[in-house]
Amino acid sequence: MMSWITEFEYVVVGGGLAGTIIAEHIARVLNKKVLIIERNLVLGGHCYDYVHESGIRVHKYGPHLFHTPFKEVWEYLSQFTEWDYYQHRVMGWIDGKYVPIPFNFNTLYALLPTEFARRLESKLLEKYDYGSRIPIKEFMDADDEDLRFLANFVYEKIFYGYTSKQWGRKPEEISADVLARVPIVLSRDDRYFNDQYQGVPKRGYTTMIRNIATHKNIFVLLNTHHKELIKLDNGRIYLDGQEFKGLLIYTGSIDDLFDYKFGHLPYRSLRFRWQVVHEKQFQPVAQVNFPLEYEYTRITEYKHIHPLDVPYTVVAYEFPEEYEYGKNLPFYPLFTEGGQEAYLKYQELAKKYKNLILLGRLAEYRYYDMDDTVKRSMEIFEEKIL
Ligand code: UDP
Repeated sequence: MMSWITEFEYVVVGGGLAGTIIAEHIARVLNKKVLIIERNLVLGGHCYDYVHESGIRVHKYGPHLFHTPFKEVWEYLSQFTEWDYYQHRVMGWIDGKYVPIPFNFNTLYALLPTEFARRLESKLLEKYDYGSRIPIKEFMDADDEDLRFLANFVYEKIFYGYTSKQWGRKPEEISADVLARVPIVLSRDDRYFNDQYQGVPKRGYTTMIRNIATHKNIFVLLNTHHKELIKLDNGRIYLDGQEFKGLLIYTGSIDDLFDYKFGHLPYRSLRFRWQVVHEKQFQPVAQVNFPLEYEYTRITEYKHIHPLDVPYTVVAYEFPEEYEYGKNLPFYPLFTEGGQEAYLKYQELAKKYKNLILLGRLAEYRYYDMDDTVKRSMEIFEEKIL
């Protein structure tokens, strides 16, 4: 029996950033009808934000700060939202004080004796340009004893403990790409990102994503698990009981799509402890990292991101934990050898399905930031759909 669902030539699983952007391109550029299947009651995926009972906007799945060097990404999203000016600042609670992260010259002078800090500063500036961001692994094996000391100091004070907590593994077991995300910044610039375009959507990410999905050619099925409608079998895709000849774009976790045939892929999950604090301000900046103490990795105070003049404030403590199917949600792919190997098996299997495209952080098992996701969705559309 034909159902209205089987009429679609394009089906997208997942109503997060990746899914809605690819759907918007299909709807607008191809002028084709597209169905988004989303298991939650709302669109937004991990970008989902809402106004907390305190009146302060919060991000349900951890702080999302938009930043990108890519003009086309910024301009694309700007069609769906206005932006509030916001430049992210992170401090670490290190040796009993708040210091800027990434580690920069302010951090250097705050944590080390002045004479020594001066010497390190000039040695760094002899070697590299002022303002550059140098991954610490660059000078972990430097000839100079002072620079080696500094790299190891940053590694121990900022990276080691945070990474062990965040990933639940020793940093040696985690891909070096993750270590590359932690630079030393050779300036007094305390901002976490130095991208040309930075901000937060004026009415939030959820509204922005809803706007992206608001097109006459886009149909959204909420509260629906894709397995209720989609079956994969031996290179063929079935939609609501009929063979599907259109294109399926899948943005969920890939092991779920294939019924865990090769076991559960390791993802890292997070748990949040929310707290309303009856003070005007809880901490100096939106995000404080705790690389050395406590079980949580960071505390986010949302008022810094979305200012509101009220006498209280809302904070979220972030506790990383292992992802367990049915218990919590997958947040980050795990960058261990085992994780990557398991993913490759699923990727091979996916190749058998000629009308299947995998897209986004969970489906591609990549550490995409939001702007990477936008860019990737635009590229996949150009390369594989247009
Ligand atoms: N990291 C760290 N110390 C910090 C901040 C980050 O060691 O104070 C490392 C850690 O391994 C973390 C990775 O860098 O998982 C990426 O950090 P980022 O802030 O980009 O994480 P996200 O906001 O994506 O969770």
